[in-house]
Amino acid sequence: MASPLSLLTSADAVRAAIAECDQLGRDEFLKKYGYKNSRLYPLEYQGNIYDSKAIAGVAYGYEHGTPLKASEFNGGVATVIPALARLGFNVMEANNPSIALVKGTTYFRKDLLAKYGGQLQCGIWTPKEFPVVLLFTGDNGKNYGYRDGWTEDGVFLYTGEGQTGDMTFTNGNLAIREHRNNGKDLLLFEDLGKGKGVRYIGLFECGSWHEKNGYDKKNQKRKLIIFNLIPVETAATDIETQLEAVNTSQSFEDLRAAAYAASKTNKAGSKASETKRSWYERSAKVSNYVLKRSKGICEACDQPAPFMKKNGTPYLEPHHTRRLADNGLDHPIWVGAICPTCHRRIHSGQDGIEWNKQLQTRLKKKEEEIGLLPTE
Ligand SMILES: [Zn+2]
Ligand SMILES: [Zn+2]
Repeated sequence: MASPLSLLTSADAVRAAIAECDQLGRDEFLKKYGYKNSRLYPLEYQGNIYDSKAIAGVAYGYEHGTPLKASEFNGGVATVIPALARLGFNVMEANNPSIALVKGTTYFRKDLLAKYGGQLQCGIWTPKEFPVVLLFTGDNGKNYGYRDGWTEDGVFLYTGEGQTGDMTFTNGNLAIREHRNNGKDLLLFEDLGKGKGVRYIGLFECGSWHEKNGYDKKNQKRKLIIFNLIPVETAATDIETQLEAVNTSQSFEDLRAAAYAASKTNKAGSKASETKRSWYERSAKVSNYVLKRSKGICEACDQPAPFMKKNGTPYLEPHHTRRLADNGLDHPIWVGAICPTCHRRIHSGQDGIEWNKQLQTRLKKKEEEIGLLPTE
């Protein structure tokens, strides 16, 4: 079926839709015509960002009398991008913020909101269209008797959200605890103060969490949730990650059960300092199992590992198929042991997205064939 957008031929109509969006504001414009954000495919025009699908549908109305409904055509690569490109407009496929953002760089919340979506008034954002959770840390917590920050052993203590009463595992707090299950990366930003923007600190994983007594705005005693966050790297910046086999006499079944158990985010003991050690141990359990499962064969291309390491084990790299963090924990179903060529191909190749999807399908099939373990 041909897209109705093949009948969109007027650049003036597109400019008229853009002008109307400028006048109404982005949200109001979307509401008026019944469209959602298209942040994955932003239209850039004179330095501003627009929702490409809504602009195209409304432009159609300027040209032909009646705007298209959102349900009448698909957005994205096959339809809106070529239709607008033909008329000289620039629609991009937006990069996942874990790729696009640069560590140490200062950003402004309103720009992050326009690009990725989020909840402006909150300290924890859960954008719908990208596999990330954005965390903001500032020193405004010090009024409540707590302060976020690094421990001596490199764990970042991040206080959950909630202004009054005991903090609970809802909204942002739930999103942090469940980020692995949901295939989301955690991105931490430091608030530099009013009007000064936020600095991107990097990618994190939630190792565990603990509770602490504190106060709320009204000076009432309450329970705080503190997340123990561990900094992690992506293969895009650090390819030094590799799968390390630990010598163990455990059976395949035991290794597998340990890996499944390790992937959960648990409440930590009294010592936050144990978080990092336990996180490494749990990561090793996932690595151990995934490497064992691969039998030394790349799980993406079925070729043997390209070489043996000095200790005689096959060289393969861990790849997280849903998140960009390449070291750290994940459910074994989402981590593959793959050769360096496949790994580069997924992160840098033209067909990387498809190669990654294919790996996901293979891993799922593999785990199902062995017999999925209950997660609780
Ligand atoms: Zn391979
Ligand atoms: Zn990777």
